[in-house]
Formats: sequence, structure tokens, C-alpha cells
Amino acid sequence: MTESRFRECVRCGLVGTTMMLPTGPICYRCRRNIAYHPAVCPECFELRPIAYPSMSSYGVLVCAGCAGEVSVFACAQCGSEAHPYGAIRCARCILAERLTALLTDPATGAVHIGLRPLYDELAAAARPQSVLTWLKKPPATGARLLGLMARGELPISHDTFRELPADRSHNYLRDLLAATGVLPLYQAPIEQMERWLDIALAPLAADDSGLIGRYARWHLLRHLRQVAERGNLTKTALYGARSNVNAATRLARWATNHHATIASLTQPQLESYLAERPGARNSLQGFVAWLGRTRANPRISILTRKSTLPEVIVADADRWEQIDQLLHDEQIALYARIGGLFTLLFAQPLQTIVAMRANQITIKEDGRVLVTFDTIPIEMPPGLDELIRRYLRNPAPARSPTETTAGCSPAGTPAVTWSERTSAPSSSPTASAPAAPATPRPSHSPPASPLLSSPSSSASPTEPRHAGPPSPPVTGAATSATAPADPT
Ligand SMILES: [Zn+2]
Ligand SMILES: [Zn+2]
Ligand SMILES: [Zn+2]
Repeated sequence: MTESRFRECVRCGLVGTTMMLPTGPICYRCRRNIAYHPAVCPECFELRPIAYPSMSSYGVLVCAGCAGEVSVFACAQCGSEAHPYGAIRCARCILAERLTALLTDPATGAVHIGLRPLYDELAAAARPQSVLTWLKKPPATGARLLGLMARGELPISHDTFRELPADRSHNYLRDLLAATGVLPLYQAPIEQMERWLDIALAPLAADDSGLIGRYARWHLLRHLRQVAERGNLTKTALYGARSNVNAATRLARWATNHHATIASLTQPQLESYLAERPGARNSLQGFVAWLGRTRANPRISILTRKSTLPEVIVADADRWEQIDQLLHDEQIALYARIGGLFTLLFAQPLQTIVAMRANQITIKEDGRVLVTFDTIPIEMPPGLDELIRRYLRNPAPARSPTETTAGCSPAGTPAVTWSERTSAPSSSPTASAPAAPATPRPSHSPPASPLLSSPSSSASPTEPRHAGPPSPPVTGAATSATAPADPT
């Protein structure tokens, strides 16, 4: 059935090497087009390349199976029409060959025993094409290091990665090895933070960098490790720690410019710094308190003044009870549940929540929900993410029709304050009603619609708005960052 002759393609008219179908010769480009765009066969209803005349209906094209033919679209090695890739072989067969060549230990002539779980995982990837791309796409760090490891030229260990740059491609491979069990699980975010710390402190005067280094390692990182051991490490906690270090380094640079060090800083100097940068007060409090406790500089302090953040004064048990209720109580309006959880889990002030817009929320292709309260997207924990997805599918109106519209603001401005909403014991049936079908959003840039308050907002980002990096074959984060924030 498969011929390779120099002829005119019956589909596109090009003269070149062709393959023979019952309908006439087709060129390789047309074969590829049909293979890459399978359609539902009208006779067997399977998704397959459709190019063969039906045996029963005149003028109808069907799949090779229904036509009783050998498919010219099938892989020459495994016979599958799925994952077309090479001229004659499928992506899975080519991948198996490349992986075997890459991971073979010359000492045994077989795939390196330590890398076998990785081989199994990659060879069975849902999209073998993606793995092939990852292996060859420059800088191809993964393929290069895996080759060295398979040949015994590089130890398969976390220590190996500690010696290498912690860039995206190295981190990716390390996470992949940990996720497939080749390497033990590790606390990637904390290790990354240690490296970041070296970079952040390097430009500072020696005294200050030593001091902030001690604060970061002995206090912040130790706390993060304890949280991580309990399985509660969140991105919020990590960002909080980074923000504390950043605040301390900014203070150190200011001190240097004023011919001082952090250890010699006086209270008037600190006051004048805070007068210049009032926003630094919150993020510096922890550091200055630590300076006092450790006697590194007991002469300075920051008076705790009324915070702009909502103080969660409830006891921990009560707090968890409230979180639990907000997660599960369908009697409470959906927007009130989400807003309450933002406050309890992420310490978001009321004014931030009422001013939120739908474009602060991203729903990733895999369903993860990211919320950008400030500048960095934070992944929402399970439960809350589902509430947000539900809300976006069917945003509640800002005011019920019976409410007065006197206070309604123009579109784009929050119309109702959060406190009005939460104080009213609502049992709005719309909150728990089944979600309406999502309205597709036009692909051009979506308008910033108020998230929780606009009456007519069509806040339904049904398409992932950030394309994100090319989806890796295995997402190998060793830690899960989904638990609620641990207050620092
Ligand atoms: Zn053609
Ligand atoms: Zn068929
Ligand atoms: Zn194949």
C-alpha cells in the first residue's frame, strides 16, 4: 500500500515523493497534515486520520480500519496512528529509542538502574512529543546532565545539584528526579531561598551582610524548615521571609549611605529612615525585634502601631473552625466565603478584597487558581480554589434587585463594601446554585472587571490567561505549597 514515487499529489498538486492511497498518491506534507489533524470517523466514531473511501457509502471518507486498508498514517514500528512525529515512526517509538540511548549505562549496556524510574515515567508521558522537545531544546541541560549521570561521570545526588547553577533548567531536572523517586524529596523552595540569600547579601557591607545572614538563617529559615517539616510550607510564608530580608537589606544600604551599620544605628536614624519610607515599617518589625532580642542592636525598636492588616485575634482553634465553615457552609454567600478565606488565610485587608478585580485571578490549564493580591501570584489551596472557580463561572450580583441602587458606583468601581456584605446574614440561593455554563472570553486582552462587586461583570476567565512555560512531562515539585499560611 505504501509507495514512494515521484508523482503529483492528488490533494495539493505538488509533484514529489508520494504515498499511495486508494484515492490516489499524496505527498508527505499532505500525509502529515491528515495525520496531525485526525477527525471522527463517520463509521466507527473514533478519532483517526480520515482519508479512505468507505466500502458502503459512496463519496464518504473513513479511517483505514473501516475501509479495510493498512493505514499509511500508522507508525512503521508500532503500527499506532497516535502521536505522529517522524517521517515513518511515531513520537513514542522515537522517544523510547532516544531515552534508551541517553540513559544507557555503558558498564551494563542497559538503562542505568538508578535512572530506570525516570525512563519509565518519561517513556509513558501522555505527550511523548513534549519530552522529545524538552530533550533537544537548547540549552538541553536535562539531556546533557542525564547523559553524564547515566555514564557515571556525574553522581546522581542532590549534592550534584548544589554544585550547579540553580537556574530553571537545573531546578526542573532536579524536581523531575525527585518526583520520579530517583532522588529523595527535598525542600526545593528553602534551598532556593538559601541561594537567593547569598546573592541578596553579597553587595552589602561585610558587617551588615553577616548580621542579616544570621537573622535569615537562624531565625527565618529555621522557622520555615519547622513549618515545612509539618507539611505546611506555603508560598506566602516564603514570600514573607524574602520580604523581611529585602526590608533589612534596604535598611543596610541606607545605613551605609549614612556612614552607619545596622549594629550602630540609633533610634533617631531609624525614625528618619521610617519617615522616608513609611511602608518599610511592617516588613522591618521582625528584623528590628530580632536585633533587640539577640542584643545585636538593642538601642532601636519599632513601636507596633495599629496595623493596616486585619488582626486575626481569634484563637487558633476558632480560626480553623471559621475556615472550615467558610469552606463548606453552602448557606453563606459565595463571595462572602471567598473574602472571609482571603482574610483568614492570607491576612488580606478588607479594602484590598473589595477592590479586587477578576484579572487578579488566573486559572491555569491544570485547574490551579492563582491570585495576585500584591505582585506575586499565590496558588490557592484546595477547597478555596474550587470556590473561586465556581464564583468566576457565576459571579454574584453586587446588589440584589431589592436593594437600593442609590450607592451604585460606575462600572469598574467597587459598588459595595465588603463589610456590608459580610454583616448581612445572607442565604442567597444563587450562591449555591449550579454554575452556569462558562461564557467564553474573547481572546484579546480581557477588561479588568471587578471581582467581587460589579453587577454585570462577566468575570469568567475560562481560558488560561497566562500561557505559562511549555508544559513539562512531569511536574516535579517536591513540596506542596497549598496549606494555609503559617503566621510568622
Ligand atoms: Zn500534497
Ligand atoms: Zn473508522
Ligand atoms: Zn510507534
